[in-house]
Amino acid sequence: MLIYTSDIQFRSVVRQTPGLRPDRVLGIRRRNRYPNCGHSGTAAGGTRRRPRPGRHVALLAALFALLAAPLFAELSVHVIDVDQGDATLLLHDEYAILVDAGPDNGRARAYLAAIGVAHIDVAIATHAHADHIGGFPDIFEHKSVDELWYNGQAHTTATFDRFLDAIESSDAAYEEPLRGDVAELGRVRIEVLHPDRSAADYDGPLHDLNKVVRIVHGDSAVLLPGDAEAPLERELLENIEDLSAQLLRVAHHGSRTSTTTGFLEAVSPEVAIYSAGRDNPYGHPHDEVIARLERIGAAVYGTDRHGNIIATTDGIRWHVETDQYAELAAACIDINTADPQRLTEIVHIGEARARALVAMRPFDSVEELVRIPGIADVRIRDIIEQGFACVE
Ligand SMILES: [Zn+2]
Repeated sequence: MLIYTSDIQFRSVVRQTPGLRPDRVLGIRRRNRYPNCGHSGTAAGGTRRRPRPGRHVALLAALFALLAAPLFAELSVHVIDVDQGDATLLLHDEYAILVDAGPDNGRARAYLAAIGVAHIDVAIATHAHADHIGGFPDIFEHKSVDELWYNGQAHTTATFDRFLDAIESSDAAYEEPLRGDVAELGRVRIEVLHPDRSAADYDGPLHDLNKVVRIVHGDSAVLLPGDAEAPLERELLENIEDLSAQLLRVAHHGSRTSTTTGFLEAVSPEVAIYSAGRDNPYGHPHDEVIARLERIGAAVYGTDRHGNIIATTDGIRWHVETDQYAELAAACIDINTADPQRLTEIVHIGEARARALVAMRPFDSVEELVRIPGIADVRIRDIIEQGFACVE
């Protein structure tokens, strides 16, 4: 049951940059959507190709979008509480997009059943780790899926074998869209930001060629980075013109190896939602990631604290509902208790100063860090301005 809601008004709803210029537009093949009742869907057979509009057509389209904006049907983003893993469902009009399916615990499929989703238009597997693809066989067995998008990278686990078996024995079309590809489903556009090449012959870490998509509806965008880590974030910053998204699905369960400050500045999210299991053994989400998100001004939600989370937009405003109301713990680095590794996140605190700091405990205030050799007034000001350090 949904008991907590909040409304967020965005700072800006006008997109200044033109965004990706698609190399090609993927036509989403449509099947009879309601096979059991003999009713064919409104878009049956329609392979949509987006024309490249001339200047005045673009102007007209912009004007129309402006007039029609309040009438846009809503896009809802469901971050499903799958325990330790990732599964995000996006619904708009009659379209359903599922990005990852969580681990093999039946939770994603049960959620789809609970809200009455029987058909998935596009299922996207970001990478082959079990906490992202483990739930797909269950979905394929119980739901019809039009297309599955994957990066092509092979993996050695039994979970991956079951994932392949499930795709093969389903009617789903298999696709490996690449950077620059765009698919349109009604008024929703899926932009593929990564990878830029097939991962079929890649045997490096699974997170390197992790699929990253940006889903755009009206003036709103949702960024789904999967388990993208810092090096991939840097690569995206260098190569993708528009990473902006009001809603960020926080990468890699809130791990400190992702969600770098530079990346966050480019995305500039108003709402940030991570997925992590309660009391998971990895310590996800890491406090410093929550701190980075809060510093950028995002409202932060997580499945470990809030259960299922539904964010809905009319293309302009977002509205968030959750199973449970929970305040996120204040995420600062307590200089009296944090371990030395954690202390090095504080500006001007390297390993040597972290050791000195630990030896000088306790501190009554952050200002008292001036006792550490090499930390004078200027550096204390930086530390306070950074806002990481605290005394609880
Ligand atoms: Zn993961």
